[in-house]
Amino acid sequence: STIDQKIKNSSSARRRVAIIGGGLVGSLSTIYFAKRGWEVLLFELRKDPRLEDKTSLSQRSINLALSARGISALKNAGSNLDEVVLSQVAPMKGRMIHRRKGGLLSQLYGVFGECIYSVDRATLLGLLLDDAEKSENVKIYFEHQLKQCDFDARVLDVENKNDGTISKYEADLIVGADGAYSTVRSQLMRVVRMNYQQEFIPHAYCELTIPPKKNAKGEFEFAMDPNHLHIWPRHTFMMIALPNLDKSFTCTLFMPYEKFDAIKTEDDLITFYQLYFTDAIPLIGEQNLKRDYFLNPKGSLISIKCDPYNYKDRAVIIGDAAHSMVPFYGQGMNCGFQDVEILDKIFEQHNINSQKPEININTFNTNSAKEQENDDMKFRKDLERALDEYTRYRHIDVTTICDLAMYNYIEMRSSVISPIYITRKKIEEW
Ligand code: FAD
Repeated sequence: STIDQKIKNSSSARRRVAIIGGGLVGSLSTIYFAKRGWEVLLFELRKDPRLEDKTSLSQRSINLALSARGISALKNAGSNLDEVVLSQVAPMKGRMIHRRKGGLLSQLYGVFGECIYSVDRATLLGLLLDDAEKSENVKIYFEHQLKQCDFDARVLDVENKNDGTISKYEADLIVGADGAYSTVRSQLMRVVRMNYQQEFIPHAYCELTIPPKKNAKGEFEFAMDPNHLHIWPRHTFMMIALPNLDKSFTCTLFMPYEKFDAIKTEDDLITFYQLYFTDAIPLIGEQNLKRDYFLNPKGSLISIKCDPYNYKDRAVIIGDAAHSMVPFYGQGMNCGFQDVEILDKIFEQHNINSQKPEININTFNTNSAKEQENDDMKFRKDLERALDEYTRYRHIDVTTICDLAMYNYIEMRSSVISPIYITRKKIEEW
């Protein structure tokens, strides 16, 4: 690849933030920074997901549980984002436990009808990117990969994946929202005494689909109750299913790798399903089950904690880049959205000014140059204080949520059928 040494400076009167990663958290962060008046450059390694072929296998429907933390962050992003998103979700008012030998048990989340919401990941990301693009101070670069950062010089090297050219961009602040395997985080580790902890759990996941079923009138309907998060708890492993608006369900099978590896043939798979998930076979369909199980990837699950999240006033990491959690608490994205909201609140409290002082070129003199220098110094000091506070304030909550997520795996695959929830007599039947 060729390297363009010319630094792409900002010519605007706004401070510039470079956000790395246009996933769910980076896209929401773009909206917040734009609203605060910054010039935002968003760099995303992949293609624009809104242009992807919807029929391709990689575009199969994958959903997430959206809950109070995430909804609050969407609401405070402005432009009615919460309402727009909530008009495209399926509410789940409780969990539905599927017994091994058949039979269902509903456990409501709250007595006042409290819900969590199933939302399609691609739809949500599309809505966030559409909203981000509405701002004239946002520029999104798809197929651009951050290669390295020189934090002290405030310069980042970004590769255009189309032609291999590496360009240098200047930014007042770098926000790393580039996921669990974050480049910004590994770059930060070179300049910050960062504590870092990662753990792969022995379980992997595989996504399957329960398609809509045709009723007697020939209309398509949900094959199970759509207002529940369905769980097939089997103690050391489990399957879950969340509803989609197209009346299908996305199932996720969570199991230790060795259990996945032990299923080598279609017959092994059907025998396994007959033993543990009997009622799911007709719902998924035997042919679909055989195809999707062997074709779909088996994803690994990682838990990451680190501290601090920032380097001076130069950079901060948010979302999975700062805290990757196992998915059993349904809080990874929600917690990342909350990072964005909290960072914004702290910027508000510290009066972080996104505008550079105006300089009249005609009367440019040493005084106005001095004024600008002072303003820059004040901005950088305030920003450093704000980012330090963000790390201090956020760390305990984030690591606690990571721990709760780990605990909830036991809750979901096993404790839901413990005496807390059902009588001892019933447990014997499960
Ligand atoms: P990501 O979604 O990983 O996005 C990072 C982006 O950065 C990607 O688009 C990537 O292409 C880009 N990128 C990476 N490196 C670079 C680079 N060098 N330069 C430029 N771009 C780069 N959370 C919930 O809240 N509720 C749920 O129900 C839920 N269910 C889950 C189920 C499963 C099976 C899994 C695995 C996770 C689940 N999560 C859930 C967690 C959720 O998916 C993540 O927390 C969320 O996607 C994190 O968003 P992010 O934007 O921080 O990171």
